[in-house]
Amino acid sequence: MKGIFPVDRFQTIRTPFYYYDTELLRQTLRAINAETSRHEGWHVHYAVKANANPKLLTIIREAGLGADCVSGGEIEACVKAGFPGSKIVYAGVGKADWEINLGLDRDIFCFNVESIPELEIINELAAAKGKVARVAFRLNPNVGAHTHANITTGLAENKFGIAMRDMVPVIEHASRLKNIQVVGLHFHIGSQILDMGDFQALCNRINELQDELERHRIRVEHINVGGGLGIDYEHPNRVPLPDFKAYFDTYAKKLKLRSGQTLHFELGRAVVAQCGSLITRTLYIKKGAVKQFAIVDAGFPDLIRPALYQAYHKIENICSNEPKETYDVVGPICESTDVFAKQIDLDGTKRGDLLAIRSAGAYGEIMASGYNCRQLPVGYTSDEL
Ligand SMILES: *Cc1c(COP(=O)(O)O)cnc(C)c1O
Repeated sequence: MKGIFPVDRFQTIRTPFYYYDTELLRQTLRAINAETSRHEGWHVHYAVKANANPKLLTIIREAGLGADCVSGGEIEACVKAGFPGSKIVYAGVGKADWEINLGLDRDIFCFNVESIPELEIINELAAAKGKVARVAFRLNPNVGAHTHANITTGLAENKFGIAMRDMVPVIEHASRLKNIQVVGLHFHIGSQILDMGDFQALCNRINELQDELERHRIRVEHINVGGGLGIDYEHPNRVPLPDFKAYFDTYAKKLKLRSGQTLHFELGRAVVAQCGSLITRTLYIKKGAVKQFAIVDAGFPDLIRPALYQAYHKIENICSNEPKETYDVVGPICESTDVFAKQIDLDGTKRGDLLAIRSAGAYGEIMASGYNCRQLPVGYTSDEL
């Protein structure tokens, strides 16, 4: 055992693999519930795209959260993990007919609709089944988030949502469709957001939009503010839980809900990121002309965030107590982007040592690919090891 890791158990498992600390996941879920249960009508839907490992989904469902899906496959994964349709919301700019039909068959809580053509197809498909689809309109609030450009989603230039100026005509159009019931407004401004001012800006925008709706005598039952709360990638040991209090307090203080309105959140990363690590074995220590490399058996097919978003993940040698040395930690893939970290200090590392790439529970296992004909990494929980 070094730190939180059962290293002896790890020795018998084929690397690389994901390891999930379910105690930390449960603690995170308790922290979320402690904040939200103080408010009437607040609901958290876990954003399944962050990690759809069935064992984690089950724990999240048991904690009482709903699910936020962005594909038919995710709806199926949630149904399998026991989420009731009434706790599933479904978003996405490109919903295929079979996916809409699946949502209708499962009587999901709500479709988060991103365009008029999509609205009309949902109306048609619902009519064919003799059903009424509940929809919320995803509005593009044109609120920038202080995060990586590839993961901001709430700017006018992004492909997501309906422009604010179209809000009233779209809702009025929808209210004339027989098989559509408009129940809410939906927003999501981006991911890995640590500046509460960004969420505050979203609240201000929603307040303005609600005022405008009121002038048109339109009232919605639900406001869904999406997710996006970030985590501390630098200090997974010292700061294992995101600042849920600051996050939820921002909405409590700044968002003006109308009486009876419910408030929905869609947190993904904040729920699962810190409980997961990618465990990889050191294959070789290679001393180059100017630096030394720890070549490991994981590559970007297993964890693509560093290559895709220049993301930082803390790395620890969980087998060594040798004095620290400086390494580039790199994978076996024949591309220069296959680097997990440059010039970092690790406890002296030798062939065979296991490294833990931390804070990898979100957008890790789920984004893994079989590039280079590699096997997908398996996810193990601390419950089963
Ligand atoms: C990705 C996404 C989320 C979750 O984002 P996190 O940053 O992981 O909290 C929530 N809602 C929608 C619509 C999304 O696309």
